[in-house]
Amino acid sequence: MSCAICSADTQTTKYQVKPKDCSVDVCDNCLSQIDQPDSKKLDTNHLRCLDNSMWSESEAVLVVVYRLLAKLSDQDKLDMMYLDDETLNWAKQDESQDIHKDAHGVVLNNGDTVTIIKDLPVKGAGFVAKQGLVVKNISLNKSDSSLVLGKINGTAIYLKCSFIKKR
Ligand SMILES: [Zn+2]
Repeated sequence: MSCAICSADTQTTKYQVKPKDCSVDVCDNCLSQIDQPDSKKLDTNHLRCLDNSMWSESEAVLVVVYRLLAKLSDQDKLDMMYLDDETLNWAKQDESQDIHKDAHGVVLNNGDTVTIIKDLPVKGAGFVAKQGLVVKNISLNKSDSSLVLGKINGTAIYLKCSFIKKR
């Protein structure tokens, strides 16, 4: 196997390009760059290989290249890359970031207005949040990307992202 990032003809490991269940074969050297949390310690010499792999036909490879270039803060090359919206979205869904998405996969932000798409009994509050109910000014739960906080009947409750739709 050769490395999908630097094309070195060496032993490769499967690297999962989260959050998708999709992997690319990378050499140890590239893997250590991907896993390097400190951008100052990146091997810029080795990462010149991105000049080639940024034109890869594999979306998974492009996502890895995009994230590495972002770590290098190489805006010029990021601008040169061609990624369709879906791939760009994927590239930006780094593991370190929690992305909140509604039932249809639309990204949610603080302050959004959402509609409840399913009757939800609110535990402890003694009422049901009805389907179709509009909740304004939600806030994202930082520690759990499946929950947002919204006020219903004056009570702040957690809503599951899979039960709401952005308006
Ligand atoms: Zn490599």
